[in-house]
Amino acid sequence: MGSFCMLTRTRCVLRQVLLGPYTAMERTYSLDVSARLLRTEGFVDGRWISAASTFPVSDPATGEELAKVADCGPTEAKLAVDAAYKAFYIWKRYTAKERSALLRKWFDLMTLHKEDLAKLITFESGKPMRESLGEIGYSAAFVEWFSEEARRMYGDIVPSPAKDRKILLLKQPVGVASIITPWNFPSAMITRKVGAALAAGCTVVVKPAEDTPLSALALAELSAEAGIPAGVFNVVPCSREKTPSVGEVLCTDPLVQKVSFTGSTATGKILLKHAAGTVKRVSMELGGNAPFIVFDSADVDKAVAGAMNSKFRNSGQTCVCANRFLVQSGIYDRFTEKLGQAMDAELRLGHGSEPTTTQGPLINVNAAKKVMHQISDAVSQGAKVLRGGKRLEGSFMQPTLLADVTTDMLCTQEETFGPLVPVIRFNTEEEALAIANACHMGLAGYFFSQDISQIWRVAEALEVGMVGVNEGLLSTVESCFGGVKQSGLGSEGSKYGIKEYLDIKYMCFGGLTP
Ligand code: NAP
Repeated sequence: MGSFCMLTRTRCVLRQVLLGPYTAMERTYSLDVSARLLRTEGFVDGRWISAASTFPVSDPATGEELAKVADCGPTEAKLAVDAAYKAFYIWKRYTAKERSALLRKWFDLMTLHKEDLAKLITFESGKPMRESLGEIGYSAAFVEWFSEEARRMYGDIVPSPAKDRKILLLKQPVGVASIITPWNFPSAMITRKVGAALAAGCTVVVKPAEDTPLSALALAELSAEAGIPAGVFNVVPCSREKTPSVGEVLCTDPLVQKVSFTGSTATGKILLKHAAGTVKRVSMELGGNAPFIVFDSADVDKAVAGAMNSKFRNSGQTCVCANRFLVQSGIYDRFTEKLGQAMDAELRLGHGSEPTTTQGPLINVNAAKKVMHQISDAVSQGAKVLRGGKRLEGSFMQPTLLADVTTDMLCTQEETFGPLVPVIRFNTEEEALAIANACHMGLAGYFFSQDISQIWRVAEALEVGMVGVNEGLLSTVESCFGGVKQSGLGSEGSKYGIKEYLDIKYMCFGGLTP
């Protein structure tokens, strides 16, 4: 293990507030991680590079600055694209077995350093440590999975209609891939793409979110230690001011063949326009607005447990978080009462490094203001606050439960990305499906029912890319992840994820003597 570096000590007063009385708590929080994993420069062509200026990265729980990171601009982005292009002609000639072995080493190093990698996530994004460790397990699992898939990129030999010809379909890497990722999974959203890209033989330039570059840079360090060649994995961190110009280089440069983006639908639309100019292949993992339906036949305790899992992970800041709760009239009161009790019993706000914390802060004050705006809008139209309803210090939000919600309210029309449970009452299955599907998004959906015929009907009718049946947690590397409608294009993870980085070449082998 390397030496330990104390990057920062932040002192803060966090009130352990939830739904009842609070206790004021004064604590000092330190990010202590191995010095070599605390990188603050860009990573291009196997080297750490500085930029003309830096931008601050802060702990969202305390507001304290953690680090100053190189603010890469279009120049550094172009350098990274050129490095990735040069490295592509080396990396694609590695055998699948060689690429697999290097990815496996990267996975092993991530596993070895999981505590430090998890601390970086907790400090830069506010995520509770238990969840950060879970994210590192999930993130590393993509590298492991694609190290295995690297060796299974089979082509086809197709029966030919002509006696003197053979038909072969070859799988080949598309080339340089630009990878743009959000802050809510600072590590896993990178490896879900990069694992597949590198396994296929592509090289990448990663632009992490402004809020969470430290996790991306630590991944770069470990990729180099694993022996992944220079130029194969590049990272260009940048501030929000530089993001549009860096994004433009990454999505328009003719040397880039593929853009893979995870983030909001609004940004996805901008990047799609950029990519159209040079007809790049695109994968878009965009926003959600997941319905969570509880039918009268449901096991209410299982539905409550599913709701807690689906809603409150990462303080409600995941794209597959349940966003609209639709509960049938016969079970409505029991569900809301038990869910309120579960929130009282299980949710604790605090700094993510406290072992008792289940709910960290939202990523920034604007995110908390957006949730408050949705709550005020709902209350002004007649919604009843059963739990929470207030913004606390900084970007901490009380987990909030609203009853008597209608489809006219903002909280059911927009993705919330915060700890808000708005509950709508419905009477029939048709009504629930009509509400659930009256949405431009279609990422995840959930429902709870014990009626087997209803389960098949509803699972098939919901217009989403992923459906949880009596289950609130879906994500796993073995299965595909992706949405329909304006939630995106393409699929990640599973045996399909690698396809996003492969072209199929038809080889017609003629002139044969039958
Ligand atoms: P965002 O604002 O779209 O940002 C995502 C990434 O895009 C960040 O790196 C951001 O950089 C960058 N970006 C923003 N504008 C850009 C531009 N003009 N050119 C190039 N890059 C640009 O999304 P977010 O608010 O961080 O993330 C939350 C959203 O992501 C939610 O809608 C959520 O549902 C979605 N999400 C989807 C999935 C999925 O798999 N479908 C997974 C996770 C999250 P800066 O940080 O510098 O702004």
